[in-house]
Amino acid sequence: MTQAARATAARPAGPDASGARILVMLGAPGAGKGTQAERLAARLGLPHVSTGDLFRAALRAGSPLGADVRPYLERGALVPDSVTVDVIAARLAEPDARRGVILDGFPRTVPQAEALERLLASRGGRVAGALYIEVDPDLLVERLAGRRVCTAPAAHLYHVESRPPLVAGVCDIDGMPLEQRRDDEPATVRTRLERQLPPMYEVVDHYVETGILLSVRGDLPIDVITDELVRVVERAEKRA
Ligand code: AMP
Repeated sequence: MTQAARATAARPAGPDASGARILVMLGAPGAGKGTQAERLAARLGLPHVSTGDLFRAALRAGSPLGADVRPYLERGALVPDSVTVDVIAARLAEPDARRGVILDGFPRTVPQAEALERLLASRGGRVAGALYIEVDPDLLVERLAGRRVCTAPAAHLYHVESRPPLVAGVCDIDGMPLEQRRDDEPATVRTRLERQLPPMYEVVDHYVETGILLSVRGDLPIDVITDELVRVVERAEKRA
C-alpha cells in the first residue's frame, strides 16, 4: 500500500538511551500480527506484550480493569486510550521489560502512539521500529474466522487451515482446549475491521512520518515472514 511505499525507515535503531529495544508490531486483525509477535519475541529474547492478552487476562481474573474493558471487548470496540496507556505504562515498568518488548496491539491510535513516545522519552527512550505486516483487507475476514486460541493463559494461536494443531481442538503446547474468541465470530469481525482499520492506517502513517516504519508482506508462509521481520530489524539496527 502507499504508506509502505513511502516508508523510508530513516531512523530505526537497537536499544535506546534507556537500554531498551522497543519494537511495535502493526497489522490489521487477522494479519498474523499476534503469531509473528510471539515468534519475533522468541527470536529476539524479548517479552511479547499484547494489550488484547492483558485485557483478556483482566476479564478472566474478574479485576476492576476487567470490568472496565468488558463492554468494549464484547462489542469489538477500542478500549479508551487513557485506560490502554495506563495498562501499557504499568507493563513497561515491570523488570522483564527493561531490555525491551515487542508491543502487539498497541498503539492502535495516533494519541496512543504519541503517549508511548512521551512515556519512553521521559526515561530517555524511544520506539526502535514499527513493523507493519501488510495484508489485503479482503483476506482478513477469512483469516479471522478460522482463528482458534488456546484457553491457557499463554493464549497460543492457531488457524484451522494455515496453522492447525496436531490434534483438532487441542493446543500442541499446553494440551488445553482451543476456542474461537467471541470477537472472532463473523458479525463481530466485520465491526472490528470497520472500526479498527481506519485508526490503524493512521498509526501506520504516523510511523511513516516519523521515519521508523518497516513493512513486510503478510501473504507469505509464516516462517518466511518471521525471517523477514528479523532481517528488517537487524538491517535497520546496523544502519542506525
Ligand atoms: P486483540 O487481541 O489485539 O485483537 O485485542 C482484542 C480487543 O482488545 C480489541 O478488539 C479491543 O477491544 C481491545 N484492545 C486491544 N488493544 C487495544 C488498544 N491498543 N487500544 C484499544 N483497545 C484495545
